[in-house]
Amino acid sequence: MTEPSREATVIVRRLTDGHGGWEHRAFLWCPACEDVHQIGVASSDGRLNWNWNGSLTSPTFSPSIKVEGVQWDAASGFHKRSHSSRPGEATICHSHVEDGQWKFLSDCTHSLAGQSVPLVPVPSRIDIPGDEL
Ligand SMILES: [Zn+2]
Repeated sequence: MTEPSREATVIVRRLTDGHGGWEHRAFLWCPACEDVHQIGVASSDGRLNWNWNGSLTSPTFSPSIKVEGVQWDAASGFHKRSHSSRPGEATICHSHVEDGQWKFLSDCTHSLAGQSVPLVPVPSRIDIPGDEL
């Protein structure tokens, strides 16, 4: 087991809809999808909320996180390299995040299916929307 990173692996931002509504979203870097996954952890209307232990370094979220998409052509900038899906087929990234670890479930279409890996910080080159809390 690797010691949990002391660096923040979660970015939480406040997003507003311009009509008084707001949502707090957690942004996580997924090493399988090589992309950010985002989940709501609080909102003005009380919906869309995952449970979060409040930790930025060893987070736990529940329930599971399931990100579904479509595979793009290999020449596209949206092609997901680690997913085995063919262009036009579904891509699935299904995980539990517990104590700072990704636990990827077996229904994932990517190469980390069935594996557990530590969360890492969101790369600084990634533009995260919203306001800092
Ligand atoms: Zn993913």
